[in-house]
Amino acid sequence: MFFPLHCPVCDSVVVRKKGLICPECISIPRLVEEPRCVCCSKHLQSREAIRCRDCSGLKRHFERGIALYEYASVHDSIHAFKNMGRADYAHFYGEEMRRELMPTIRGMKADALVPIPLHPGKLNKRGYNQAALLAGEISKGCGVPVREDILKRVRKTEAQKKMNHESRQNNMKKAFHMVKNDVKLKTIILVDDVFTTGSTLEAAAEELKRGGVEKVYFVALAIGKGL
Ligand SMILES: [Zn+2]
Ligand SMILES: [Zn+2]
Repeated sequence: MFFPLHCPVCDSVVVRKKGLICPECISIPRLVEEPRCVCCSKHLQSREAIRCRDCSGLKRHFERGIALYEYASVHDSIHAFKNMGRADYAHFYGEEMRRELMPTIRGMKADALVPIPLHPGKLNKRGYNQAALLAGEISKGCGVPVREDILKRVRKTEAQKKMNHESRQNNMKKAFHMVKNDVKLKTIILVDDVFTTGSTLEAAAEELKRGGVEKVYFVALAIGKGL
């Protein structure tokens, strides 16, 4: 590899042999702390509950999932990763996910890793799907194959930042289409960069189940805080 790698926090060029993040930046990305929701893995404010408010109140189509970082601590990094061409951050993220999440991921006993697809127009513009890069990195650690041919984004969706839960769900309705399940995949891990309310992963999981998949888990790079 000849192109330079950048620190995912301060964006300065790093030397691969010395590590993929600068020593000064290493403590910035924060792992999600206990206690965590048993379903979506969000940090919980109170020790009393075992599920966050969203996971207690809503029907979840995925079984459960795991995320690596507190979103607030990597917000800018993920923005650059997705929107400013910093695809190379995937190397660092991948290394960290393999180190921290592998036992949990192996325990899911999945047949395939399926990245949340981008709409073709968006993919063309961006040149890569950040979720597919992450899935590739996870696959290196567990040997579960990445399948990008199973789920398609069939509808453009609006940015969801300012929407409430109901509008998010409506926004995501029929956003995905399962192409085929000719090899009879029973268990799938969906991979995405950020889990906020989970409406995107939810919609994808629902579509996979409709197509005959029995169990759907997720792995996300970062997740927000729960109540
Ligand atoms: Zn740095
Ligand atoms: Zn939850």
